[in-house]
Amino acid sequence: MLLQPLPEPVAEQAGVRLLLLRDDLTHPELPGNKWRKLKYNLQEARRLGHHTLLTFGGAYSNHVAAVAAAGRLTGLRTVGVIRGEELAHQPLNPTLAQARADGMQLHFLDRATYRRKQEPAVLAELLRGTGPAYVLPEGGSNALALPGCAELVTELRQLTAFDYLCVACGTGGTLAGLVTGLQGPEQALGFAALKGADFLRTDINRLTLAGTSNTYPNWALHTAYHGGGYARLSPELRQFIRAFRVRHGVLLDPIYTSKMLLGVLDLLARGYFRRGSTVVTVHTGGLQAWAGFGGEP
Ligand SMILES: *Cc1c(COP(=O)(O)O)cnc(C)c1O
Repeated sequence: MLLQPLPEPVAEQAGVRLLLLRDDLTHPELPGNKWRKLKYNLQEARRLGHHTLLTFGGAYSNHVAAVAAAGRLTGLRTVGVIRGEELAHQPLNPTLAQARADGMQLHFLDRATYRRKQEPAVLAELLRGTGPAYVLPEGGSNALALPGCAELVTELRQLTAFDYLCVACGTGGTLAGLVTGLQGPEQALGFAALKGADFLRTDINRLTLAGTSNTYPNWALHTAYHGGGYARLSPELRQFIRAFRVRHGVLLDPIYTSKMLLGVLDLLARGYFRRGSTVVTVHTGGLQAWAGFGGEP
């Protein structure tokens, strides 16, 4: 694993060692946290004798892209249930075109039905069409997503001691997994990419508690750094991404990691982190999303 120093003036002024963990480089075809969340789910699907993975997502979903790639790499059939009518997605955007090229069968659901996808009747109807399948939730965040993410913490600890571990949040599954891997005074900070994401705290608590009676006090969620909303790439954020690439030679993604780093730099300027501490930010990948924003900036 590559751990890269981020020599930012705000970090130096705050007396903080700021690092970037390049988890975007961990797997050549399944970058970042999506691979970690899938790892034990794929094992479980195989253990249960499934030949098909079925999952859900929006038309630009990094998770759908990762499941399609996982299917191609493992030989499992994949079905992607995509939010929105088929006509609205023609021609296919680059994410969906790649998913189909990876062998994924795309199944489009109108938005009203998509909202009800958790209901047994809706799911049963989907499975009638596909045959038996191992079902992964939207974003891939279930109990089995956590141990793969916890492994990141173990790998990181072999490289350095740290005080704060910062990660972008969509569904919160990655943060929940990191939290279960922390020890002692280590803390995890999540940065929500979604506007109005306070509900995520409940989801994260529920995920970390699955199957245990532990409670985890060692994390916090920051909800002010959504940059206007989930897939809103403001001119300011685009400019930040360009400047970050010039300073550090690293391309951030437009939905998650860019907002997290903007948030961390803002907290550094506000004196949030203890002087003398080590702050590790995680590059969770997501670069395929640039295709949906007209290409890299
Ligand atoms: C999906 C994703 C996240 C958020 O992961 P969750 O487990 O849904 O919180 C963060 N960064 C990138 C690049 C992602 O694709």
